[in-house]
Amino acid sequence: MKTEIINRINALRVFLAQGNVQAVIIPQTDPHQSEYIAAHWEVRRFLSGFTGSAGTLVVTADKALLWTDSRYFIQAAAQLQDTGIELMKEGLPGTPDIIDYLIKVLPKGSRVGFDGWLFSVDSAARIAAQLEKHGLEAVTDFDPVDAIWPERPLLPQAPIFVHDIKYAGESASDKIAKILAKAKEEGADAVFISALDEIAWTLNIRSRDVKCNPVATAYLLLSPQGSTLLTDPAKVDDITRAYLNDNGVKVEPYATIADFLAALPADAKVLAQPDKTSHAAGKILGGRLVKAGSPVPMLKACKNDIQVSGTRAAMERDGVAMVRALMEIERGLKAGEKMTEITISDLLTDLRSKQDLYFDNSFDTIAGFRDHGAIVHYTATEATDVELQPDGLLLIDSGAQYLDGTTDITRTISLGNPTDLQRHDFTLVMKGHIALGSMIFPAGTTGHQLDAIARQFLWQEGLSYLHGTGHGVGHFLNVHEGPQSIRLNHVPTPLTPGMITSNEPGLYREGVHGIRCENLVLTVPAMTTEFGEFLRFETLTLCPFDRSLFDTSLMTDEEIAWVNAYHAEVRERLTPMLTADEAAWLAVATAPLRR
Ligand code: ZN
Ligand code: ZN
Repeated sequence: MKTEIINRINALRVFLAQGNVQAVIIPQTDPHQSEYIAAHWEVRRFLSGFTGSAGTLVVTADKALLWTDSRYFIQAAAQLQDTGIELMKEGLPGTPDIIDYLIKVLPKGSRVGFDGWLFSVDSAARIAAQLEKHGLEAVTDFDPVDAIWPERPLLPQAPIFVHDIKYAGESASDKIAKILAKAKEEGADAVFISALDEIAWTLNIRSRDVKCNPVATAYLLLSPQGSTLLTDPAKVDDITRAYLNDNGVKVEPYATIADFLAALPADAKVLAQPDKTSHAAGKILGGRLVKAGSPVPMLKACKNDIQVSGTRAAMERDGVAMVRALMEIERGLKAGEKMTEITISDLLTDLRSKQDLYFDNSFDTIAGFRDHGAIVHYTATEATDVELQPDGLLLIDSGAQYLDGTTDITRTISLGNPTDLQRHDFTLVMKGHIALGSMIFPAGTTGHQLDAIARQFLWQEGLSYLHGTGHGVGHFLNVHEGPQSIRLNHVPTPLTPGMITSNEPGLYREGVHGIRCENLVLTVPAMTTEFGEFLRFETLTLCPFDRSLFDTSLMTDEEIAWVNAYHAEVRERLTPMLTADEAAWLAVATAPLRR
């Protein structure tokens, strides 16, 4: 493997020399700026051997370096050993960013190459301006990958299917009309969309191109004269083709994107979001490009009534699977059976896949026992997997894609003998979860205004957590979607009725334990007064919290009442779907907390 990596880097250097390029930047993304990418785009992984989900490779004539963040320092150091690739630890003092590094080491007049399809309009412009200021030149069409990767996987081939309107709740033609009307307000007569989840939502189509994200690899141009989906024609069967045709959408090959954009009328005004559209596409659009925010994310985030009732039903089935998993963990531990983090993850997938309308998991399950729970992006591997013991905390963050909705839930449970510290930490996290979940706030309030509500009890004791408190969640789509989020940084998008967002405060003590309590919540109207319209959250997720971890002496009467009311609802809605044994277990798990 190591010599293989060295050979690949050297093969790349041949193209550097041939193209008179002194450095190349290879990011981990695709032409759609996706968070998760198909195997075809795993170029950085192929060239470096590093398998983490975040990281950028830079190769010069005499050096190769990989920038990645703290989640991957240990993994990257191990995988890069003996490859000659130097690890650059992002975020540590003394680690320069990539462009600053290149400015420092390259002689003036040097050329820095990258593939313009993999950098957004915004980021490519930023890089080019920075390089130019220091006498370097950006070469934005440097892409020798096909030549040095003969076994490069094909573009994803999964078929595209129609997401039935009985789940989607609104037709593609109605959505297209809405999007074009919004674009008109920005002075555009057409809209070019690269983001895969935006395309899937707009056309009510789905596929299996990317693990956990039911999207299809494609570009979409919407226009009043007729719209075009650019995708591999082999992915489109007759039914899907007829459906698209009925909605005014014709299909063109994915590979013809450059020619297709170049052939648009010279006077066309095409709206494209500059941080989600590739530099290469933007360059071809040239004077036709209207840089503006895509109208799709906001329309997509505000779920319609059918999506909301579908999600409620999906939550019931997901809750049943969760209850069965929690029961099985308890039973297995009592019986002394060998259970590990990986078997828990497999158990959850198995139980969910038996539920109606299951399609896939919505992300890789995080099952972290004891100190593993404190590693925020932990996924158990053969090398790290540990056996569960009847003592200590287990953090389980998991979810599924169902045709009628997407789920994402975290429960932290005690496997036995909860300590005072565990109960103290869990209760503080829950107090924040409850406070956020019961907030009433005026329309127009954004997520960052609410973030401190969830952190207040931790802050009070000098504690905190480093991740956001809430992310948007798609409908049978990506488990992470914008534009809203609940976090410390400024977020301009107000929490709006119909939005589904997570409520997931946590607390992580390195080397000890990790706690996170996550439900999905729906923004709904609360009341209208002479002071205006007020909103609140409706909790969608249905699964008990571990009663043995609450320290009621730290809780107010209202907080105890919130837990009891939530548990009563969980019991009421899940019981009809459970066997008698399961219902009996749930009755105990949801019995009222008392002081
Ligand atoms: Zn989660
Ligand atoms: Zn989440």
